[in-house]
Amino acid sequence: MKVTFFGASHGVPEPHRNYSCAMIEAEGKYYLIDMGIDPTPELVNRGLTPNDITAAFITHSHGDHTYGLAAFTGICTWYYTQADPLIFLPEKGMLDGLKAWVGATCGQGLRQNIRFDYVREGGIYDDGTLKVSAMPTGHMENAYAFLIESEGKTLLFTGDMKHKDGPISDFARFVTKDGLDLAVAEGAHFDVMLYQEPLRAHPPKLFCINHYNQWQTANCWQLKRALEPDIPTVLATDGLEIRL
Ligand SMILES: [Zn+2]
Repeated sequence: MKVTFFGASHGVPEPHRNYSCAMIEAEGKYYLIDMGIDPTPELVNRGLTPNDITAAFITHSHGDHTYGLAAFTGICTWYYTQADPLIFLPEKGMLDGLKAWVGATCGQGLRQNIRFDYVREGGIYDDGTLKVSAMPTGHMENAYAFLIESEGKTLLFTGDMKHKDGPISDFARFVTKDGLDLAVAEGAHFDVMLYQEPLRAHPPKLFCINHYNQWQTANCWQLKRALEPDIPTVLATDGLEIRL
């Protein structure tokens, strides 16, 4: 399994860090988590197209995780007409908005056979390659973290968590899953140093801070120094690839 970060910033882009978007590759298949940016140019840069995307999972509706959805489904409507992604939305109302925007910008309605489903608590996806379970976070109504299993590896991808005390009420719950090969956690809504305690109680093999804001960058490096060498820690940047 390989995770590639297309966008590793928080709600505001930083130099060389764009809105949230990541790609997972497993057994020659490709999946997306969040579309804060349109993933199409990033796919094309890597010799891929939207035709290669099997499924996409959106953590929550905030724009920095969804701005790219209209662009992606738009180009799948008028150009990449062989694309057959299954897109998991966190809220039902989003599909009406998407239809309206694609209709207004593509000169035709959202292509019928782009498939949609909805994120809900528990197991939401298993195609024999990738298994995804969703866990609600306290960030907002209908916000989720994903536990992703493939090729014998387990990855936690938190999405956004509860403001101020996320690591206690959300992350501490998620990180108790045994045998995490990688935990990708956000760094925008609370002091990232709070990650220390739950991480030391249940250390993943690798910890990745994603979605961190500019005021937290120094704290992220401080956290990395505090955790290592016990828990190898990496700060996500656009283009970063992690192989599990
Ligand atoms: Zn958010």
